Parts: sequence; structure tokens; C-alpha cells
Amino acid sequence: INSFLATAMVCGCIYVIRLEFTRQKGMVRELQQAMRNDELELFLQPQINNAGDIIGAEALLRWKHPQRGYVAPNVFIPLAEESGLMPLVGGWVLKDACRTLASWADDPVLSRLTLAVNVSASQFAVSDFQQSVLDTVAFYGIEPSRLKLELTESVIIADMEPVIAKMNALRAAGIRFALDDFGTGYSSLSYLRRLPLYQLKIDRSFVNDSTENQHAAGLVRNIIQMGRDLGLVVLAEGVETTAQHALLLDSGCHEFQGFHFGRPVPRETFEAAVQAAAVHAQAGIPQSARS
Ligand code: C2E
Ligand code: MG
Ligand code: MG
Ligand code: MG
Repeated sequence: INSFLATAMVCGCIYVIRLEFTRQKGMVRELQQAMRNDELELFLQPQINNAGDIIGAEALLRWKHPQRGYVAPNVFIPLAEESGLMPLVGGWVLKDACRTLASWADDPVLSRLTLAVNVSASQFAVSDFQQSVLDTVAFYGIEPSRLKLELTESVIIADMEPVIAKMNALRAAGIRFALDDFGTGYSSLSYLRRLPLYQLKIDRSFVNDSTENQHAAGLVRNIIQMGRDLGLVVLAEGVETTAQHALLLDSGCHEFQGFHFGRPVPRETFEAAVQAAAVHAQAGIPQSARS
């Protein structure tokens, strides 16, 4: 009976794995189609400075699936990674972001904004990554300093020297780098000093805990101070409450992002919100009265 059960369990597992495999293969094919059919879309989430002004946005990928509706990146990016599609998807994201920046170039308000794009480790590792970024920036004729590239610590676990060389080439062209989800990876403080970074993005788990207890508050304050000591612009991710914002401001945090200020929204919605805020500012309505 035991061996019967064992066999049944193994068969069951294999069945589930095969089902999962077919399902994923189907999804990979769908993702390839999605890129051809224009089903990918970049949502924009505002980034705010310590004066309360919107200074830019982070571009966050969505898959507008004809049957499933909007699919979140946490679902399909791992699939794209496994199937080797990520450099292709990442290339689409970069192009679309540069196209958006180009469309903002002649607008007195929108032209002042920056756009941050997430770059996955596998995309960054492709040998012609830096050239493809430079080519895209040149093709759309955008100001390189408007583009920010967000890398996670996973990019840096690999051999440091080629990573630094690639970053330096892009940095020399005026493109800026942010280290995303800071504090969740295998951080070594020595690499932080060696990378040509502009910004440190504190992971939202620290922000979330910061108003829970004194220890968590102290931790977030120290991370901010460390970023400042390294000469970096510090941004807090996942700010959801007034209390979190107040604590972060008091701790010397430079920039903020989170549902408290705005969720990721379609490009047109974001642009309309920025224009409305600019009209308010011109009318001399204080930030605290803006909605
Ligand atoms: P991320 O780069 O750290 O982006 C921030 C994530 O936190 C976004 O999730 C955003 O919607 C969410 N978020 C923002 N504010 C808040 C808040 O106040 N509370 C909470 N609970 N969440 C907040 P999203 O859009 O689902 O993206 C998840 C992750 O997927 C991103 O994390 C990034 O790692 C990856 N991703 C998204 N778009 C791209 C892309 O174009 N390329 C690559 N390689 N990765 C992407
Ligand atoms: Mg990011
Ligand atoms: Mg992040
Ligand atoms: Mg993340």
C-alpha cells in the first residue's frame, strides 16, 4: 500500500508539473503575441520631492490581456525571465519610455519630469545593453538626464568590474541610476561606494514598518542618513500614510513614492494630474490645499 501511495504521489506531482509547464508554455507564447499586438502598457506612478512637487514618474509594466484583464508584472516578468524573453520585453519598455519622454519635450510642464525605468539583471547583462540604451535615447532625441534606470542589487552580485564599466558608459552620457528595493538584497556597503549611482530607493518594507515601533523608525532613519552620507538622493518607496511621510521628511529623505501620493496610472491620467497640479501652483494655491 505504501509503494502504491508513493507511486500515486509521484504520478500526481509529475502531472501537476506537466500541467504547469504547458500552462507556462502557453503563457510565454501569449506574451510573445502580446508584444506584437500592442498589449503591453506602461503605467506611471508619481515621484514627489520634499517640497511636495511631482518631479517625475516610475514606469511600471502592465499586460492588458484580452481575457485576463491587466496582469501584474510579478506574474509575467518571472515567466519572461525563465523563457529568455526579458531582454525583448525590456527593450520594448525602454523604447516606450523614451517615446513618452520625447512627447513631453516641448511641453513647459512635462518637459521638466524624469522617467524611471526598471531594468532586470538579465537585460542589463546582455552584452550590447548600454549601446541599445544609447541608440534608443539618440533615436528619440531625448535629453539623457531625463531617463533614470532602476537596477536591483541582483545586478551587482555578479562580477563587479563589467557592471561598473557599463554603468560608467551610460552615466558619462548623462543617464542616471537608482538602486531599487535597497536593503532587501545582499548588500555590501563597499559596492555602494563604487557604483556610479544617483539615487537609493529604500524598499517599501522598511517604510511600512517605520511607524510601527521605535526600532523600525531608527532603522529607516539610519538608512536615509547613510544614503545622504554617500552623497546619494534618497527616495522612499511605498509611502502609504501621512505619518510615514512625516517621519521620512523629518529623517531627511529627499523624495517619495507611494499610494499616499498616487497609484500607478495610465500615461494620460498621469499627464492630466501633473498639468492640474501645475495650474494650482501657478494660481498660488499652497501644496497642502491641493488634492
Ligand atoms: P518596483 O520597481 O519596486 O516597483 C514598485 C512596486 O510597488 C510597483 O508594483 C508599485 O505599484 C508598488 N507600489 C508603489 N507604491 C506602493 C504603495 O504605497 N504600497 C504598496 N503596497 N505598493 C506600492 P508593480 O507595478 O506591481 O511592480 C512590481 C515589480 O515588478 C516592480 O517593483 C519591478 O521590480 C517589476 N517591474 C515592473 N515593471 C517592470 C519593467 O518594466 N521591467 C522590469 N524589469 N521590471 C518591472
Ligand atoms: Mg522600480
Ligand atoms: Mg522597488
Ligand atoms: Mg520590487
